[in-house]
Amino acid sequence: MSDTKGRTMYVILLGPPGAGKGTQAVQTAERTGLLHLSTGDMFRENLRNGTELGNLAKTYMDAGELVPDDVTIGMLLERIGRDDARAGCLFDGFPRTVEQARALDEALTAQGQEIAVTVLIDVSNEEITRRLGGRVSCATCGSVFHQVFNPPDASKPCCDVIKLIQRDDDKPEAIANRLQVYADQTEPLVAYYTAADKLSTVNGEQSPEAVGQDLLSALEAVSN
Ligand code: ADP
Ligand code: ADP
Repeated sequence: MSDTKGRTMYVILLGPPGAGKGTQAVQTAERTGLLHLSTGDMFRENLRNGTELGNLAKTYMDAGELVPDDVTIGMLLERIGRDDARAGCLFDGFPRTVEQARALDEALTAQGQEIAVTVLIDVSNEEITRRLGGRVSCATCGSVFHQVFNPPDASKPCCDVIKLIQRDDDKPEAIANRLQVYADQTEPLVAYYTAADKLSTVNGEQSPEAVGQDLLSALEAVSN
C-alpha cells in the first residue's frame, strides 16, 4: 500500500490501552502488507530475552508508566531503519508522547517521507476496563484474546505450545494508572495530529470485524 504521492505508507494506530490497537494491527498488516511495529511487543521481547533494555523497561511497564522517551525513541528509530520497514509501517503503541511524535516526524522528513494518517480507535473508559480485565495472551506466540469477547478457538490453536497468561500490567491497579497516563501524556496527540490534518477517528466499540473495515476505509482514503 502506498500514499497518494506513491510513497511508502506510515500509519499510526492511536488509542487508550485496550482500545484494540494490537488486535486491529495484526489483521490490517496482513491485509495491507504494512509491517506491524508494536513498541509494547518490542519491550516484552527484550524482557523475555533478558536484555538490559528489557530489564529497564520492566520497571516502568509493571507500574503502568511510560518507558522514558529517549530509550523508546532510540529503539523505534533503529527498527524503522531496517530493510523490512521500507515497505511501510503500521505503528501500534507509538508515539505515546508529543516528544515521540516529533522525533518520528523528523526522522521521516529526513527520508522524504511523512505519516499518511493517524487512526484514533475511540473507546470509552468503561469498555477499556472490561477489555483489559479479561485480556489474556499466549506466552509462546503473543496472540491476544479476551476471556469473554474473543476467546481462543479450540479448533484453530494459535501455536503448538499454547500458554495463556494475564499480563502483569492488566491487573486493576496498573489499569487505572495507565488510563491516567494516557489522558495526561498520550491524548495530546489527538490535537497534534488534528492540527497536522492527519487524524481519522473510528468507533472502536463495534465488533473487531466492523472496526477493521472502518480502519481499512480510513487507509484507503489516503492511499492511491
Ligand atoms: P497496551 O496494549 O495495553 O496499550 P502496550 O503493549 O502498547 O500496551 O505497552 C505496554 C507498556 O509498554 C506500556 O504501558 C509502557 O510501559 C510501555 N510502552 C509501550 N510503548 C511505549 C511508548 N511508545 N512509550 C513509552 N512506553 C511504552
Ligand atoms: P490494545 O493493543 O489497544 O491495548 P488489544 O488489541 O490488546 O488492545 O485488545 C484489548 C482486549 O480487548 C483484548 O482482550 C482483545 O481480545 C479485546 N478486543 C479487541 N478488540 C475488541 C472489540 N472490537 N470488541 C471486544 N473486545 C475486543
